[in-house]
Amino acid sequence: ENVILSVQNLKKHFDLGKGTTLKAVNGISFDVMEGETFGLVGESGCGKSTAGRTILGLYNRTDGKVLFEDQDVHSMTEKERNNFLKKMQMIFQDPYASLNPRSTIFEIIAEPIEIHHLNKSKEALKERVYELLEDVGLNRDHANRYPHEFSGGQRQRIGIARALALEPKFIIADEPISALDVSVQASVVKLLQKLQKEKGLTYLFIAHDLSMVKYISKRIGVMYLGQMVELTTSKQLYNEPLHPYTQALLSAIPIPDPDIEEKRERIILEGELPSPINPPTGCVFHTRCPMAKAVCGQLQPKWLEKSEGHYVACHLYDEEVLAIEQFETIAH
Ligand code: SF4
Ligand code: MG
Repeated sequence: ENVILSVQNLKKHFDLGKGTTLKAVNGISFDVMEGETFGLVGESGCGKSTAGRTILGLYNRTDGKVLFEDQDVHSMTEKERNNFLKKMQMIFQDPYASLNPRSTIFEIIAEPIEIHHLNKSKEALKERVYELLEDVGLNRDHANRYPHEFSGGQRQRIGIARALALEPKFIIADEPISALDVSVQASVVKLLQKLQKEKGLTYLFIAHDLSMVKYISKRIGVMYLGQMVELTTSKQLYNEPLHPYTQALLSAIPIPDPDIEEKRERIILEGELPSPINPPTGCVFHTRCPMAKAVCGQLQPKWLEKSEGHYVACHLYDEEVLAIEQFETIAH
């Protein structure tokens, strides 16, 4: 297995002026293997979209590194960056907002090809656009129509065709199904899976809950308030979630088997997601964690590898912290 993307202690802070800093992404690390789907999950406001955009180089990093095929995304020459942008593309949450209403579907899909000067003859360009439309389950008759003539699911297919125009290897899908009717979500996911198989694509799939992402991802990273709190295979995460936040997220998913449902009680988190402007000290989750102890407000948990490939940031799994008597005795 080859690492295609390596995110190393990535930070993206926004300076809001007057000495205020929004710590949108505050030190996340993970690798994505070639050909896999890696799910990045967390509530809205946890920094996952900002992480996606920083990985694509749409934002400068504040600290850390993003390596794509061993190349630092944030220190590329213009030529290297152009080349990189052919290999990595993004699909956005809102297919309505991301398609120019005044352009035909043909113009929308042909645009990236023209920007990168890959256009062959007019005929060849046409054929290429038709081929892309067919790849996403549309057809050439759709080419001369406008975005408003299509349903949400079809518009997302158009967005996917455009993302595929440059034959990328890697796609960042930022909540690609969240804005769609539940009835069409599954068909778009199936399309993404089919394209992955056919074209050998790697996906970074960003989502705000685990319901769909656990089926399609090989591995999942759970984010909370700009940090990653747990990372493992989908299977492990589902069977043996370690972090109290992951446990709460999972408890919100209805389980079809009623026998299991009895065992997995719904965990309702108290309080609001704190602001990333002044994130809590110690463990960022301590203000809402049902298991929090005194030490949690003071000491930031280490990123521990509990079993092979299963990482968690929580004092409950840190032998050294557990050895501190305080941890067990002071509960709230
Ligand atoms: Fe909860 Fe403490 Fe673990 Fe944070 S470190 S998740 S507050 S138990
Ligand atoms: Mg978002």
